[in-house]
Amino acid sequence: MKQIQIIGGGLAGCEAALFLADHGFSVTLFDMKPEKHTEVHKTDTLGELVCSNSFRSDSLANAVGLLKAEMRMLGSTVMEAADATKIPAGSALAVDRVKFSDYLTGKIKQHPNIEFISKEITEFEPDQPETYTILSSGPLITAGLADFLKKITGERYLNFYDAIAPIISRDSIDESKTFMASRYGKGGADYLNCPMSRETYLNFHRELIEAETAELHGFENDKKLFEGCLPVEEIARRDTDALRFGPLKPVGLRHPKTDAEFYAVVQLRKEDREGHYFNLVGFQTHLKQGEQRRVFRLIPGLENARFERYGSMHRNTFINAPELLNSDFSMKKHENLFVAGQLSGVEGYLESAASGMIAAVSILLRESGVDKPVFPEHTMLGGLSRHISVPRGNFQPSNAIFAMVPAPETRIRGGRRARREYLSTRALNALKEYLKNNPLLRQ
Ligand SMILES: Cc1cc2nc3c(=O)[nH]c(=O)nc-3n(C[C@H](O)[C@H](O)[C@H](O)COP(=O)(O)OP(=O)(O)OC[C@H]3O[C@@H](n4cnc5c(N)ncnc54)[C@H](O)[C@@H]3O)c2cc1C
Repeated sequence: MKQIQIIGGGLAGCEAALFLADHGFSVTLFDMKPEKHTEVHKTDTLGELVCSNSFRSDSLANAVGLLKAEMRMLGSTVMEAADATKIPAGSALAVDRVKFSDYLTGKIKQHPNIEFISKEITEFEPDQPETYTILSSGPLITAGLADFLKKITGERYLNFYDAIAPIISRDSIDESKTFMASRYGKGGADYLNCPMSRETYLNFHRELIEAETAELHGFENDKKLFEGCLPVEEIARRDTDALRFGPLKPVGLRHPKTDAEFYAVVQLRKEDREGHYFNLVGFQTHLKQGEQRRVFRLIPGLENARFERYGSMHRNTFINAPELLNSDFSMKKHENLFVAGQLSGVEGYLESAASGMIAAVSILLRESGVDKPVFPEHTMLGGLSRHISVPRGNFQPSNAIFAMVPAPETRIRGGRRARREYLSTRALNALKEYLKNNPLLRQ
């Protein structure tokens, strides 16, 4: 059995390490923590969630809900950690971020087949015949390792910018002006909602688009923004109503006592199980900290908000995967080297963990004689594999979306939800069949 080395103990690295160790491989996991941190990682634990604490919808009518179901079928430890540390968040799966990474770190450090080495890696041998390497050092990969990767791929890096949202202490919120509810009453009343009248909204909008943004420093001058994670002020600049049709949309959010409807609603989601902290949903921002205090305190209920974390903006690095990777996430030019996580061109916590899982499964199956194994095309895991390996003009990272799996063979009656549920059922059946044919993967 070949040895495994994994570089980066984030969501992809932890998922891959635990899967392979559970299947008898001897794994060495390198992460530079706790000695060194990227500009966004703050804790000394592995599998740190750098921004939102949400793993998004758990419903099978949602592509990421399907991805979660598939990962659970494969015995994902990231899903196990999320389920063990979840906090109420309507129909979404949100976690207590500290408990979540403590859980994963404990699993890694206590596993008899995993050796954890705290070290910043700046180079490695990509073609070791007796070792598989998984490179999962994330979108904030350090400069030295990024330079090395450039060298072995001969490719130019694509650098984008992502923004993160602020976190507010609950005891600083004036809850006489807010109400608890989930959109359309789905799940529990888990979100804290700050309702806005037209006048309040327009004033807020004006101040937001005129507020000063922070300097970008330390990175390349290429300041392209990733469409899926636009700063709130960028969205606001596009159109006066853009926020009301985006993160501040008021639909499905009537006041539970008065039944009143609002012009716009800012939602806050719990950060921890106890609900001491809330994050501003969709408020990724690049405003200066003083401006965040000034402008976000115009939101009803947040007049005296205390910021536990300010929003900020950071780089998001990924490779031109379709040029470089096979569908099993191995490199075309270095067959024993896999790239997983956000660096490989998937987008999101779950998708990063899933790519680590795909790389790990590929190694396991390859070791047992299956060449270039991929998940069935109808599964979301198969869809992610296609996303990173099928060439197209302008490659962009992507979340799991239903467009990644083939359309239904026949017309499905009952609207969008029924169609999506059909695709999920079809995917889960395909995965069941796949597991039947690959007994090594069975739980
Ligand atoms: C600012 C920002 C906000 C984001 N917000 C969200 C969000 O809200 N929701 C969402 O779903 N996704 C979000 N993402 C996208 C993505 O899902 C996360 O970045 C996710 O954590 C990626 O997982 P990963 O395993 O690829 O890398 P990471 O989880 O970042 O893990 C990489 C690990 O590698 C280590 N490392 C880096 N370089 C080296 C080196 N040279 N040697 C050794 N170790 C190294 C780091 O210490 C880290 O532990 C965000 C990304 C960024 C950059």
